[in-house]
Amino acid sequence: MKNEDWKSKLSPEQYYVLREKGTERAFTGALLMNKEKGVYKCAGCGNELFTDEMKFDSHCGWPSFDREIAGGKIKKTIDKSHGMIRTEITCANCDGHLGHIFDDGPTQTGERYCVNSLSLLFQPAETQLNIEEITIGGGCFWCVEAVYLNLKGVIKVESGYSGGFVKNPAYREVCNGTTGHAEVVKITYNANEISLHKILEVFFTVHDPTTLNRQGNDIGTQYRSVIYFQHPEQEQLALSIIKKLEEEKVFSSSIVTEVKAFDVFYKAEDYHQNYYNLNKSQPYCQLVIVPKLEKFKKVFQA
Ligand SMILES: [Zn+2]
Repeated sequence: MKNEDWKSKLSPEQYYVLREKGTERAFTGALLMNKEKGVYKCAGCGNELFTDEMKFDSHCGWPSFDREIAGGKIKKTIDKSHGMIRTEITCANCDGHLGHIFDDGPTQTGERYCVNSLSLLFQPAETQLNIEEITIGGGCFWCVEAVYLNLKGVIKVESGYSGGFVKNPAYREVCNGTTGHAEVVKITYNANEISLHKILEVFFTVHDPTTLNRQGNDIGTQYRSVIYFQHPEQEQLALSIIKKLEEEKVFSSSIVTEVKAFDVFYKAEDYHQNYYNLNKSQPYCQLVIVPKLEKFKKVFQA
């Protein structure tokens, strides 16, 4: 990129440090005391250079790191300016000046990457996507879906059918209980923003996991309580939450929720998607979902 282009892309202060090898005044940088989880990128080009785990408090006045993200993202050059012999560090992608590296670091690596705040852009962890999915059933999917659409960090909720033996089942068949499927919702979420623990906490709050093949007036195997996990960590977490709820006797009867490996999900017909929000006048929704949403609100205000 030409100097003129850098000038329009960067602030004058960033330009001075990144392109003219300047140094910000000690103890003035915006990221000096930052202790949040996330990634430090080159302010010039977005190249990912360091993570929060590599940062330490060096008391030298500039953000300090004891190692870099692997992959040759940082270039090291001998710098003999100002009557000293130092090793300059620059972004290997855009040549932007970052700072210097010293071998007096206090951690195991022995290194101290001394970096200008102005050379860095910090991206907090919760804004990075870490997409996960979990499929759960807790009675009528209209109700479960409505609850999860309210949660921050949930990206998508789809109503559908899982756990049966008939391919591409229709709603009417599932309702007759002849397909073996449960009414489920497939939740896509950003695990950096919402934990599976929270998702399952909500699950056990808004339905009754102790009634076999039944939620209130909805009776049949399609209304069974299920968690279809996608990997062993999800399974472990689900089982440990159930164990804890049992030990603490949160429910008066024992939990009958099935915890099984996810197999296949059939998305329900379009008119079932976002049903609650699109059909608020329906008496069913008012009777069943509103108390669930109220219960859920109470849990999260507490
Ligand atoms: Zn760069």
